[in-house]
Formats: sequence, structure tokens, C-alpha cells
Amino acid sequence: MVLERFGEPLQLRELPIPKLGPGQVLVKVAACGLCGSDLEISAGKLQGPQVPLIMGHEPAGTVAGLGPGVTNVQVGDHVVVALYVTCGQCVHCRTDRDNLCINLIGRPGFELDGAFAEYFTVPARNLFSIASSVPLEKVAAMSDAVATSWHAVRRQARVTPGQTVVLLGVGGLGIHAMQITKLSGARAIAIDRVPEKLQMAERFGADLALNTGEGDVVAQVRNRTAGLGADAVLDFVASPETVRLGLRMLKRDGVLVLVGLCKRACRESGSSWVTITSSAS
Ligand SMILES: [Zn+2]
Ligand SMILES: [Zn+2]
Repeated sequence: MVLERFGEPLQLRELPIPKLGPGQVLVKVAACGLCGSDLEISAGKLQGPQVPLIMGHEPAGTVAGLGPGVTNVQVGDHVVVALYVTCGQCVHCRTDRDNLCINLIGRPGFELDGAFAEYFTVPARNLFSIASSVPLEKVAAMSDAVATSWHAVRRQARVTPGQTVVLLGVGGLGIHAMQITKLSGARAIAIDRVPEKLQMAERFGADLALNTGEGDVVAQVRNRTAGLGADAVLDFVASPETVRLGLRMLKRDGVLVLVGLCKRACRESGSSWVTITSSAS
């Protein structure tokens, strides 16, 4: 499915199977997530993507071909894909922050052709093998919606058992972050303004679900935490309004993690008590 012009529907096209270069792998796509970013890409609202483009950045599939020099996967392996095709050499790539690569080559589905296709190619080092018993359609969203949330919960907020974590916005990213929070042994408070999202958060294990339109959510978080506030607030909206809300819910030395496009919010907020840390996957 090819995005030939921004703002227009994807077009079904017959294209040759992509050629393999050194270190690359051909992946046969089994499933691919569809993400809010895809809507922005197709509308031409994101900087970077150029048309014509095959979108699709949340794929899972099987290895169908190996380029020269590939040793870490074998044909038939089930794989998910790390999204950032990086230089592997810069200061961020060498310090385990390759999502911040200074010389980013691109991302499948954004700057590179992606997985809304039967086949796509990606460097072998971007692949993670997964057990063949796991349904591929269930892991397709891992490369973005789950990995970004994992990064926010485990590496930025460093959530530990017994903590209380507020999830501001429980959409595609927040709902995964909430489950990872629970798996980390912490209490999860989901906050949103959409009742359906809060119901889903409860179904997936939220200890408390609060609607911003109903009562004082800051007071309710403080009530739940003996007046201290939350250990961490993960803000998946990252607007100036939610940043202000998040800061008021934090305990001293709490951590506010902004996930997403947060330039305006970062500029307008400020506090000496918290670490504000942005989390792109
Ligand atoms: Zn995505
Ligand atoms: Zn790099």
C-alpha cells in the first residue's frame, strides 16, 4: 500500500520484492500496527517522510531472506523490528541511547519504506527473534507502542514495586504503560477525559481510574498517597495543561516523564523538585 500523495488514500500497487544489501534481512510481513503517527504521516503533518512511501512501522513477520554477512537470524525466524535504523557509531548509539542517534538513517514507515507491504528490508541488527508460539499479530505493536512505553516506565521513571504511578492519558501508549507499571509491581492510577479509555484501563488492571472532567483529580491522587503525591507521573498528552496537572500530583523528588511532542510544554513548565525527561521510544 503506497502513499503516493499526502492527504490521499493509500494505493494498492504491485512492486518488486526489495533487493537485499549487506547486513540486511528481507522480512515477510505477517502483521503491522496502525498508529496515530500513521495518520500524521499520511496527512503530511510530520517532518521527514517523503512520498512515494510505503508506511508501516510496527511490523512483525518472518525472515524470508538474508543479505551477505547476516548471522544473527535465520530464514523462518519470527521477528519484531527495532524502529530506528542508526549509524551505530555516534555518542548516543554507543551509550545505549540509539533512539537519539545523531546520524539517524531513518525509520521503516517514516523515512524508509515500511511494512504495509508483503515484504520489506531492514538491517539484521534491528531484528529481535521471538518465540514462534507467540501470535505475530499480538507483538506487531511492540516496536513502537510497547517499546516507547517500556522506555518511559522502566528506564526513565525507573518504576519499582510499591510505588504509585499516574498515567495521564491512557490511549495507545498509555494503556501499555499502565500494564508495564502493573507488571513492575506498582500501583497504577489512570487519568483521562474519555470514559471508554478509562473503562479499558480498569479492564487491564488500573487500581484507580479518574476522569479529569469529574472532580479534583489532584486531590484524589493525593488522597490515595497519604497526601504525598505520586512517585511518577507519565504524561502521554504532554500539553502545558497536563504538565501543570502532573506537577501538582507529584511527591517531592517525584519524576515527571513526558512522552511525545512536548516542546511547548517543556518550555512553559519548570520545577526544582522533579526531573523532566522526554521519552521518544
Ligand atoms: Zn507507531
Ligand atoms: Zn548514531
